[in-house]
Amino acid sequence: MSMNGQPRNPKYIFVTGGVTSSLGKGIIASSLAKLLQSRGLSVTIQKFDPYINVDPGTLNPYEHGECYVTDDGAETDLDLGHYERFLNVPTSQANNVTTGRIYYNVIMKERKGNYLGKTVQVIPHITDEIKRNILQLGETGNFDIIITELGGCVGDIESLPYVEAVRQLKWDLGSDNLLVIHLTLVPYLQSAGELKTKPTQHSVKMLQESGVQPDIIVCRTEHPLPQDIRRKIALFCNVEQNSVIEAMDAETIYDVPLLMQKEKLDQRVLYMLDIYNDQDADMDAWKGFLGRYKNPIEEVRIGLVGKYVELKDAYKSIAESFIHAGAANECKVNIEWIHSESLTPENIAEKFDGLDGVLVAPGFGERGIEGKIAAVRYVRENNIPFFGICLGMQMACIEFARNVIGMPEAHSTEMAPDTEFPVIDLMEEQKNVTDKGGTMRLGAYACKLKDKTLAKKIYGKANISERHRHRWEFNNKYQKNYEAAGMVISGINPDSGLVEIVELPNHPYFIGVQFHPELKSTVMNPHPLFVNFVKAAIEYASNKKLVLS
Ligand code: GLN
Repeated sequence: MSMNGQPRNPKYIFVTGGVTSSLGKGIIASSLAKLLQSRGLSVTIQKFDPYINVDPGTLNPYEHGECYVTDDGAETDLDLGHYERFLNVPTSQANNVTTGRIYYNVIMKERKGNYLGKTVQVIPHITDEIKRNILQLGETGNFDIIITELGGCVGDIESLPYVEAVRQLKWDLGSDNLLVIHLTLVPYLQSAGELKTKPTQHSVKMLQESGVQPDIIVCRTEHPLPQDIRRKIALFCNVEQNSVIEAMDAETIYDVPLLMQKEKLDQRVLYMLDIYNDQDADMDAWKGFLGRYKNPIEEVRIGLVGKYVELKDAYKSIAESFIHAGAANECKVNIEWIHSESLTPENIAEKFDGLDGVLVAPGFGERGIEGKIAAVRYVRENNIPFFGICLGMQMACIEFARNVIGMPEAHSTEMAPDTEFPVIDLMEEQKNVTDKGGTMRLGAYACKLKDKTLAKKIYGKANISERHRHRWEFNNKYQKNYEAAGMVISGINPDSGLVEIVELPNHPYFIGVQFHPELKSTVMNPHPLFVNFVKAAIEYASNKKLVLS
């Protein structure tokens, strides 16, 4: 709703990509959304992914990077993480739709008899379902602008129905209400010493062949785009010259909104959508963050122990959370990516040498587990700040049972189904689940924090809500053993009694959380658990210096 309680009439912006993948459609969409939001408009971003999986939840992180979970428990593409981090507004299942979901819905409708008598076809049935999903968020009346990122590249067979849906929507909604931004690459040929526009011409032509004329062309480039190149692109691609926007490679993704502001992308969009807005985008707070991020006073080294470390995208939200928390502390956080499989009790001292904190990452399955347990033991015994997330928290509990409580065989039934001490066990409601997709404990759950604990001090309140994605949990049968041995259970789900946070009081910073705090850290709202972890690492580093001097 708008300020006067009237539903808003949304306008639609589509972001397509050409020439190659990985040009950063998600960052361009997020940056534009940020600029429009900073002008007082209500904006959201959604992503349509052309693959057949119903959601990315069952995809291996090596395949697709991290799976981002929303408050409503949707397992989504990692670009939604960027949308939330930039806009500071939560997304939901409606913000991420795949071809698999579109077909699933159409097939379910066909079985119910909704199309009785008709042959069900890509046009109009699949395209109608795509359009229905595209328009869904707009129908809430909550948004002035909906930006839709189309995954994949123009010209991919699987992208065709989406491009066709955009073509149809231009007719349905009218061209004042819909804008297409095409993101493309303008490569620099070293041998010729020139920027080349041909790939852009070809990819725009491909869009035009499908009946879609892009309104704005954003060009990724390593060198500034001179006027003659802009003129050429405008001429060949049938757009005005000031609709050719330069997107130079940026130092960080958080610079992109300011680069786009300089190129007047937001102004151009408003003009073309016929939206009157004389407010300048207020980016002061954003610039404040960038200033702190780029001019750190402190520096720490954090070990990130995981099993997918070869692919940094597998831990995207954690890495970004460290950027937010680092800026909040005016501290440069250097992440040392450590493969859990490479860690043994024998080499750990050497591998962790020089670290000021260790984060044991989320994960699934047996690979690298003993390395994670060795990591927890080392940091617990050596008073190095520790932060365990999801599987990392479970490993902290196993390590504590084995080495402090005195249950040498303690384990999780995920890795050792017959363990004598199942300190981490499958949740009751998971025991009869057989489907893999969308069946974990997913989304936001309440958690109550105990008084006089580190968790309560960090959050500064008793009731919190955090996002989950797991099947196993702390086995409450052993709560007493843990407490008797000195571990504090500081956060509990008030409805189910599930343990959500554990901590060690006689340690500078030892905290394990069953949920994923990294999914809620944003530029404007760095997550307190990360902020305080970095703070603890700074203290650890300065104490170390004192001892050495
Ligand atoms: N594999 C563990 C579970 O399912 C942890 C999951 C995670 O780290 N996200 O409970």
